[in-house]
Formats: sequence, structure tokens, C-alpha cells
Amino acid sequence: SRDFRVVVLGSAGVGKSALVQRWVRGNFREAYLPTIEDTYRQALGCSHKAGALHITDTTGGRRYRGLQRLAIARGHAFILVYSVTKKQTLEELKPLFELIRQLKGNNPQKCPIILVGNKCDESPREVSEKEGAAYASEWNCAFLETSAKMNINVQELFQMLINFEKKPAAAA
Ligand code: GDP
Ligand code: MG
Repeated sequence: SRDFRVVVLGSAGVGKSALVQRWVRGNFREAYLPTIEDTYRQALGCSHKAGALHITDTTGGRRYRGLQRLAIARGHAFILVYSVTKKQTLEELKPLFELIRQLKGNNPQKCPIILVGNKCDESPREVSEKEGAAYASEWNCAFLETSAKMNINVQELFQMLINFEKKPAAAA
């Protein structure tokens, strides 16, 4: 079997776990439950090869840099999440982006990254959609705004990953 490992990264509180929960279980919790690291496995329903989508939901904490680095080293694709209500969480993605490039190389085809502005249902905003898109084009990666709460673009996000998985280069 061939597994495709997706790693979800970003600062604490941006909604990483909420996005994964929304997709895996179809629900949303208002309560904040700090994560250390959780993994989820979804069988991929495509016929060409048996395999699963592994999702690693990481923590933003500095104490867990080692875990984060290991998850990146093992990952095939990355979701970088910030909150549109907090500009700082977008800036905090920069060192993570650089670490991914350092550990995985510079080829976006081989190592897809999706930049995600979550909490697009909330206001006031500190990051406009245009500004998020500008970061994504600077980093040469895909971009989506999502809401785990209102279930906006969550299917689209994970569908994008599944599409990457189907291209053999992505899993090399
Ligand atoms: P994590 O630390 O990145 O895993 O963040 P969580 O998924 O635990 O979410 C942190 C807080 O933000 C929780 O109180 C969630 O209910 C809330 N939250 C997550 N996603 C959204 C969203 O799309 N919209 C809104 N309004 N709140 C959200
Ligand atoms: Mg979490």
C-alpha cells in the first residue's frame, strides 16, 4: 500500500484541529483543546492503488519543534494555516515555510504546500484575502480561505490534497 502523509502546521488557535475535525468527522467544536500531535487515517477511495491519506495535526508550541521537524521530514504535502483575524499567525508561518523548503527541497510539484487563511467567517479581519493570496504567490503555493466553523472550502482543501496524491510526482 502507498500512504500519502499530509502535515497541518500553524500557530496555536488558528483552527488546525477544527479543519481536520470538520473534514474527518463533519463537526465543529467551540471549545479549544490543545493538541500535541494527532494523526488521522482516511482510506482513499480511488481504485488505482490501495493507500491512505494520513493527516498529522501538529502543535504550534515551541516546545515541540522536534516533533514538528520530524513530521515535516516525513510529510508529502503541507497545509500551512493562519487565522485571518490575526496577522501575526500569518507571519509566524514564514519560518515553517522555510523549514519545509530546507527539508524537502524547492520543487512545488514534488512537495505541495497549501496556504490556508482560516476563520474567514469572523470579523474584524487583520488579513485580507488579497494579502493572503500575495503571500501564496510569493511562496509559489496554493491558497484558500476557509471556515471550519461554517464549513467553507474544507472539502475543497482536502480535495486539492487528494488531487496532488493522484499525481505520481507528488508522492515521490
Ligand atoms: P489549533 O490550535 O490550530 O488546532 O486550533 P483549534 O482547531 O483548536 O481552534 C482554536 C479555536 O478557534 C477554537 O475555539 C475553535 O472553535 C475556533 N475556530 C476554529 N476554526 C474556526 C473557524 O473557522 N471560525 C471560527 N469563528 N472559529 C474557529
Ligand atoms: Mg490543535
